[in-house]
Amino acid sequence: MGKVFMYYLSGASIFSCKKCKVHLALNDHLISTEFTGKYGQAFLFGECVNVIVGESEDRNLLTGMHVVADIYCVQCDEQLGWKYEFAKDESQKYKVGKFILERERIQKENWI
Ligand SMILES: [Zn+2]
Repeated sequence: MGKVFMYYLSGASIFSCKKCKVHLALNDHLISTEFTGKYGQAFLFGECVNVIVGESEDRNLLTGMHVVADIYCVQCDEQLGWKYEFAKDESQKYKVGKFILERERIQKENWI
């Protein structure tokens, strides 16, 4: 593995890794809080940084069959959620390329 490059976000409200505090996403990129992850409530984000995307796999989720890849914190390796790579159902295709972050694994920082 090469040198890990860390992104630092700036914004009024930032979500970060609960374990190591590395920045993950801006509140501006939050699409929905109505998702269910492995550990309960999960958030859907349009963009996410400082994560490593794992192997793609077929997964049968509440909303049908999807191809997803688990995502891990680039700094502490904690599993944070997953990325949608493909959705079979037409109504679910808006999620493709977007990220799920488990609420339990992230925290929100408020700079104001
Ligand atoms: Zn971390």
